[in-house]
Amino acid sequence: RTVLRELTEIMIKNPDISPSETLPDTDPSVFHKRYLKKMRDLGEGHFGKVTLYLYDPANDGTGELVAVKALKQDNGHVPEGWIKEIEILKSLYHSNIVKYKGCCTELGGQVVQLIMEYLPLGSLQKYLPTHKLGMSRCLMFAQQICQGMEYLHSKRYIHRDLAARNVLVENESLVKIGDFGLTKYIPEGEIYYRVREDGDSPVFWYAIECLKESKFSFSSDIWSFGVTLYEILTRCDHRQSPPVKFFEMMDGAQGQMTVMVLIKQLEKQQRLPRPKDCPHEMKMLMEQCWAADPAQRPSFRYLIEKFEAIRQ
Ligand code: ADP
Ligand code: MG
Repeated sequence: RTVLRELTEIMIKNPDISPSETLPDTDPSVFHKRYLKKMRDLGEGHFGKVTLYLYDPANDGTGELVAVKALKQDNGHVPEGWIKEIEILKSLYHSNIVKYKGCCTELGGQVVQLIMEYLPLGSLQKYLPTHKLGMSRCLMFAQQICQGMEYLHSKRYIHRDLAARNVLVENESLVKIGDFGLTKYIPEGEIYYRVREDGDSPVFWYAIECLKESKFSFSSDIWSFGVTLYEILTRCDHRQSPPVKFFEMMDGAQGQMTVMVLIKQLEKQQRLPRPKDCPHEMKMLMEQCWAADPAQRPSFRYLIEKFEAIRQ
């Protein structure tokens, strides 16, 4: 107690010293930049860059490995969407969702980095092409993605960027959803979220109504899950990736035209092809996910039950 009183006095005399500087162990979600030791780059997407660090306050190599996400465009001001992404991840607790650990806040109180658990096997997109995954593992991963998504939907969030690149692999029998950068909250009583899109949208994972009317809903996540299931069943072979396959179907349309041509194809009921060795039931499931009418698409609960039954 006397130590604490002395500290308080020191702090009153020296307002420059913040409590977190003098009492480093009070909040486990506060990570100090000076204890973060960079190990290597883990990956990057459109918005963020993720790096592996060792957080080692004792400075003896006994620290923990953490994945640190920072915005790629760091021009001094902190965008609102970035704070939202952190707040959303912080509020999620599920075995199939990447765990939030904390933040690294730089001087001035600006949140610059998101600290999360490190998943050693990286994204599904990197993992699948190099590991010969049997069908039962594929279905197990697919079911786990559905479980994480069912939880997300139960909290009234839509993910809007479900894809193999945003699913992380913990070990050979556990995957988690990562990257909540495009996630939106759907208020009670509403069914969709309308967005003004920029040019960087993952259009080949988007449902038809997202492309035509920018309407995002729980059902549009189901469509993206169908595309993610397609990626899993093709083991993320880049020669069969959704963009490659759709471009093949559109014979050569590029640039501004892409979305219009894609909409035309989807309206003609054209969909991604059946992956090699894909069981009939899986093809049926993907097609249900890609129903033109959002109301006809299944829910994640339905999909989980299907996977459970098929995996028996
Ligand atoms: P963006 O919002 O820019 O798409 P992501 O959150 O998807 O950023 O991260 C980019 C990439 O970094 C992922 O595709 C994955 O390869 C890697 N990555 C992200 N989080 C982790 C993590 N917790 N552990 C290991 N690798 C990760
Ligand atoms: Mg991503």
